[in-house]
Formats: sequence, C-alpha cells, structure tokens
Amino acid sequence: MMRLTTLPSEFQEALPILEKIKKAGFEAYFVGGSVRDAILGRPIHDVDIATSSYPEETKTIFPKTIDVGIEHGTVLVLTGGREYEITTFRTEDVYVDFRRPSAVHFVRSLEEDLKRRDFTVNAFALDEEANVIDLFDGLTDLEEKRLRAVGQASERFNEDALRIMRGFRFVASLGFDIEEQTFAAMADYAHLLEEISVERSFIEFDKLLMAFFWQKGLELLVDSGAQHYLPGLKDKALAIQSFCQSLASDFQFGSSEQAWAGLLYALSITDIKGFLKAWKTSSQFQKDVDKLVQILRIREQRELTKRDCYRFGADFLKAVEELRAGQGLSVDFNHIDQLDQTLTIHSKQEMAVTGRTLMVELGLKAGPHLGDLLHTIEMAIVDGQLDNNQEAIFEFIAERVVDE
Ligand code: ATP
Ligand code: MG
Repeated sequence: MMRLTTLPSEFQEALPILEKIKKAGFEAYFVGGSVRDAILGRPIHDVDIATSSYPEETKTIFPKTIDVGIEHGTVLVLTGGREYEITTFRTEDVYVDFRRPSAVHFVRSLEEDLKRRDFTVNAFALDEEANVIDLFDGLTDLEEKRLRAVGQASERFNEDALRIMRGFRFVASLGFDIEEQTFAAMADYAHLLEEISVERSFIEFDKLLMAFFWQKGLELLVDSGAQHYLPGLKDKALAIQSFCQSLASDFQFGSSEQAWAGLLYALSITDIKGFLKAWKTSSQFQKDVDKLVQILRIREQRELTKRDCYRFGADFLKAVEELRAGQGLSVDFNHIDQLDQTLTIHSKQEMAVTGRTLMVELGLKAGPHLGDLLHTIEMAIVDGQLDNNQEAIFEFIAERVVDE
C-alpha cells in the first residue's frame, strides 16, 4: 500500500472530520479528484469526504451541517471556517434517461462506492494516516499517464455519457493518453451525448478548453467522433483540428470567452449567439463571445481604430490580440493602449451632455432627431474632433444648426 509522505495542508485541516466520524463508529476517507491531485503533487481544490455513515447519522456527528443534496447522500459540514461535502458511500442503479441515476443506494462499503466512480485515477481513497487505497490500479495508470475507466468501459459510458466528456476534459487537464478499450468505448457511446443535458456537456467542454493540454483533449475528442453529437459541431472535425494546430503548442486561453471566440471564428460560424444559445449559455456570455469574434473579423481586415476601442473596450481588443499572438499573426498591444489613452470618453454615460441637457438648455425637442444629434456628438468626441465639455458641445450644435 502506498502512503503519502506529506499530507497537503488542505487534508491536514480536514483530519479532525475524519477522526470525528471514526470516533462515532463509522469509516471516513478523502476521495475524488483531490486525492489524485495530491498524489500528483498538484494544487488541490475541494476536499471531498466519503463515509459509511448515512446522512442522518452524519448530521448527528457535527453541530453545523447543511442539507445540500441529502437524496444523493451529501451533507455539507461547516467547521473551522470551511465547508466540506461529506457523502455517504453509495451505488447507482440502472440509468433510465441517461441523465440521472434512477436510484441511489447508500451502502456501508467503500469498495462499492469506489466502483461507481468514472476513472481509476479518480477512484482513490485516502485514510487519516495518509494511506492511499487503490482498488483499480490507478497508481499504475497515474504513473503511466493513462486514463482508464473503472470496470467495464462500455458499461460505464453507457450508464452515464457525461463521463465521455469528463474523459476528454481529464485528458486536457492531466495530459494523459486514454487506454485503448476506454477510448473505444468513449467513441462507441459518443452518440449518447445527444441524450444528456447540454449544460453539463458545456461545463466539461469549457473546462477542457481552459486546461493546459487543451489541444490534446480536443484532438482526441475529434478522433473519437464525439463532436458529431455536440451542438453545432457536427461536421467540424477538420476545422477543429486545424484550430488546434493554428495555436502554439503551449498556448493557454485567458478566458472562456476568448477560447470559444477563437474556436467559433476558426470554424467560420456566422451566427455566434445562435450557436452558443444551442449550448444554453448565458446571454452575457453569448454577447461577449460575439464581440470578440467581431473584433477577430475586423482585425483580419484592418488596423484597429479609436471607434473600435470605444465600442469594444481595450480588454476585449487585447484578448483578441493575445489569440493572434498565439497564432503567430501580427499584433500591436501598444497601439491599443494608445487608442485607449487618447479616448476622452469610454461610454455614453461619460458625455458632458445628455438628451435632457439639450432639451432644457437649448430647447431642443425630444425625438429621433435628438437621438441622431446625440450620436453625432458622441462619435465626434470619440474621434477626438470635439472636446467633451458643454461649451464645446453647444458650439458644435450651433454650427450644425446654422449649417442645416
Ligand atoms: P476536479 O479536480 O475538476 O474537481 P474531480 O475528479 O474532483 O475533478 P468532480 O466532478 O469534482 O471531479 O467529481 C468528484 C469525484 O466524483 C470524481 O473524482 C469521481 O470519482 C466522481 N464522479 C464525478 N462525476 C462522476 C460521474 N459522472 N461518474 C462517475 N463518477 C463521477
Ligand atoms: Mg472535484
């Protein structure tokens, strides 16, 4: 049995929880991704705990708990200013609609719980003495950088197709290869991706793009043909591959918006919002990605202008410039800074006049004319032809009214 020589501080802080549960006569272990990451010496996030105590029993052990998913066996324990998810050992029954397990059964055996987990490297348990419990030879897989399903791969992906997306996501974050039978099963059952919730696929796809080895994750996804069953990506295998190759092998996306914009631009998607709507993303996300793609299109044609800087903001322009840098295209970050510095306003709200000012001070009438005039003023300020103060603006209006 392997033993971790140093227990990361996140686990040390949570040790009293394991001890309390054990004192009450139950088993308790650290489980899931945090154990994998600790063995790999990677930073760990949420520490998950699995226990033989049933939720009602867990609740009697700790003074402060919150029911977050009691039907799944999860109780949130608040202690030492932190929150820990404590989940009862469980198994999952036959899956009826490919989304949810039809029934969760609480069990008293750690082995049963570990068996239902997706990949061997996600199926470790760690006890209070830092012993790693490895029932499926996950340590060898970690050593050999291999992602392998727990048990019969085809069964596991047939039970829950989200595991297919998770698999490519773990390839992208760990840089692992996929064991042959596991990969074959992921490809065989990829069609079931059409049955699961798009939101959950999006979360995994998005995590994949944001991961260090995103190109590897995406290339294997395409090799499996899984893109065929994802919204808007049906016939995009070649375009996805060339997108991967177009960016430097160490290129990292700075944000999800940037990643999706780069991808959708490369795939020549015209209706960006429509595409992202099919993935059920937020309208803010759709808007932001759409803006970035517009900038990519502009940038293909010409240099950026003050108006571009005003319209999109320097941060968006720079996000596009970073993408271009990753593709070895010409970039000019200084130019964006210059544009930004010479802008005297960054939004309508910063204008020295409003429609109301013009009505009250100059007696102009409300209506489309006033809107047009305000827009002309706004653009003249942006272009640097008009100072942003009332006096200059009133003069500008006087000249125009005389002209007309
Ligand atoms: P991350 O480091 O991104 O949090 P993780 O491995 O912790 O990755 P989670 O989604 O947080 O992944 O899930 C925690 C654990 O629960 C996994 O390590 C795995 O053991 C199990 N798990 C999660 N989702 C599934 C699933 N769909 N099928 C089987 N096991 C799963
Ligand atoms: Mg996790």
